[in-house]
Amino acid sequence: MKRILILLLASISLTINAQERCGTEAHTKSMIKNNPEYAIARNKVNTQTEKWIKNNPNHSEKTIITIPVVVHVVWKTNNQNISDAQIQSQIDVLNEDYRRTNVDKINTPNVWQSIAADCEIEFCLASIDPNGNPTTGIERTETAHGQFGMNSDIHTSTSGGADDWPNDDYLNIWVCNIQSGLLGYASPPSNWIGDGDGLVIGYQYFGTEGVLQAPYNKGRTATHEIGHWLNLDHVWGGWGNCGNDQVNDTPKQETENYSCPAFPLHPNACNTINANGDMFMNYMDYTNDACMNLFTNGQKNRMLAAINSYRSNMLSHNLCEGSLGISEQMKNNNKRLIKIVDILGRTITEKQKNTPLFYIYDNGSVEKKIIIE
Ligand SMILES: [Zn+2]
Repeated sequence: MKRILILLLASISLTINAQERCGTEAHTKSMIKNNPEYAIARNKVNTQTEKWIKNNPNHSEKTIITIPVVVHVVWKTNNQNISDAQIQSQIDVLNEDYRRTNVDKINTPNVWQSIAADCEIEFCLASIDPNGNPTTGIERTETAHGQFGMNSDIHTSTSGGADDWPNDDYLNIWVCNIQSGLLGYASPPSNWIGDGDGLVIGYQYFGTEGVLQAPYNKGRTATHEIGHWLNLDHVWGGWGNCGNDQVNDTPKQETENYSCPAFPLHPNACNTINANGDMFMNYMDYTNDACMNLFTNGQKNRMLAAINSYRSNMLSHNLCEGSLGISEQMKNNNKRLIKIVDILGRTITEKQKNTPLFYIYDNGSVEKKIIIE
């Protein structure tokens, strides 16, 4: 009887560990420990962020930033080799969440509707690869590797992963069989130059269709991790209880929330006078995908500061233009781009501007396009 009880206790504690939603803090701590230069670079980020926000007090002019994405699908089993449609469903969620066109925005409590942000950030599957060739923005790599932990294997082809595309130009997202209990992790921005910048996400938590595991089946793991990639902390501040997430309009909160609580939760937490309690429906908490529905204006400012200060190639590029994205290809009777040629019929391998180019598709159609700068 005693032995059974001990076994039972052991399995309960494993279940609690298995709930850790996001590995970003652990990953960042380990990076800081192993790379002194990274620790110095990360320390400067908050100062720079505050400076940028102070110098850019109102961005009243609507400017949409589009981030080109490459998805590295690293697979061993068929389930792990997720479909193009599953990948596109994730891009769709990102575009809804970062433009606040998500249908569940009505679930944001009234008291916070006025600070819920249209972040004015969009995402595309890259249409041009680092060599200037047309691409679907999806790379598939078969691997013999088992579950991937939070080390460099996933972004190293010789270790069974897939190499990064230049991380100044692209958001790299690796989708793979991730270690049990973890949904994903990301690398926050800094001036430190290293491999592996981007997101790593378990294949069963990516997108809204395909082989998915509830309650993390609404694509919010990537929404959350991109928040970290753009320098957001967890809403409870992380790094300890009642911490500081450096955002003024998110209420102080003792620690993470799971599942799907009812509003208000934990009023006056952390000795504050705040009858509304935790903002547990913020994308930077740990609640179920179906219960998250907002970023705040303060979080938006931090993300814009991160892009302008550390990921500025995302502000102006042509990596989302040119060839059709996967969704449009599917809409157009699955026509696929075969190649791009110039007016003399030469295959184009480098980015060219102000030059007419012809896009040839496998259904026999041709489109003429000019990228104007
Ligand atoms: Zn996180």
